[in-house]
Amino acid sequence: MSAASVPTPRLIDRFGRQVTYVRLSVTDRCDFRCIYCMAEEMTFLPRNEILSLEELALIGRAFVELGVSKIRLTGGEPLVRSNVAQLARELRALPGLRELTLTTNGSRLVQFAPQLREAGLDRINISLDSLRPDRFREITRFGKLAEVLAGIEAARTAGFKRIKLNAVILRGRNDDEILDLVRFARDRELDLSFIEEMPLGNISEHDRAQSFCSSDSIRRIISSLFPLTPSMENSGGPARYYRMSGSDSRIGFISPHSHNFCHLCNRVRVTVDGRLLLCLGNEHSADLRAVLRDSNGDIDALKAAIVAAMGLKPESHHFELGGDTQIVRFMNMTGG
Ligand code: SAM
Ligand code: SF4
Repeated sequence: MSAASVPTPRLIDRFGRQVTYVRLSVTDRCDFRCIYCMAEEMTFLPRNEILSLEELALIGRAFVELGVSKIRLTGGEPLVRSNVAQLARELRALPGLRELTLTTNGSRLVQFAPQLREAGLDRINISLDSLRPDRFREITRFGKLAEVLAGIEAARTAGFKRIKLNAVILRGRNDDEILDLVRFARDRELDLSFIEEMPLGNISEHDRAQSFCSSDSIRRIISSLFPLTPSMENSGGPARYYRMSGSDSRIGFISPHSHNFCHLCNRVRVTVDGRLLLCLGNEHSADLRAVLRDSNGDIDALKAAIVAAMGLKPESHHFELGGDTQIVRFMNMTGG
């Protein structure tokens, strides 16, 4: 690339934070209905309202030309959408993109891990909340643990490095499996992050205030068996990482309640209907689909809209447990 064509970073918000990371949701649909993420009965977007793969690729390109260096494909479950590997291939070829990653529930990795690796995907995060088949089914409502475990193996065999497991721990539900999950990750040299449950979407299955399990309490349980040493490593995200002796695995904690990380925020999200969300915990957004469709796919119009939207990025989120759910959109819509 010539020096003249190096993209100039331009996505700076009102608080001086530079946006370098985009989470792109490729579908709001999912083959699971995790109890903390979705209601049992969900309505999904009609086809004409969702972005085509070409539109998603163009949005990715616009962001990268504006200095974004990392894109995560997510959803819903990204692998329920056809041709995601092709989208990954196009995005990975963008000059300036340093890392392309994907978050998945793992149910279709046996089928797709090799294609995704071949398309150039750099890393995969796989959600895993329980190692007990019955409980796994209860938490995901439809999931089969054996398929996900086979998916994790398929990702390892395909050659993905630093695979990360994500676990949401709910008090009284799976908090007795914290050490089993750590052992599982250690045995396979996988990283493992614990995510505090966030109040996104109205769910009636449980009371989020009752089920809340803080990162600090999880950390204490792990430390009782595997002493944790804080690590300086940082994946550019809100996770705080720790190392254990005798293991290459990292243990991460994503703690939107107990450790506010907004001042470090470098990310935005795009929903599959083209809404650019400036903050996970606020509704500030810009309609990129309208810009795309009104301008006949003009990338300069798209870039101008993205730059203008930076002025909407709020300083921080304000998640509260127990109060009315402030954010009505579910996590599958948000793009986790
Ligand atoms: N379907 C994929 C998966 O489950 O990995 C990708 C999308 S999912 C919305 C991304 C992540 O968000 C998952 O790790 C999931 O556990 C997490 N998640 C979903 N709802 C959540 C909530 N209300 N609070 C915290 N994490 C949540
Ligand atoms: Fe689907 Fe992921 Fe939400 Fe579970 S967390 S319902 S797998 S989108």
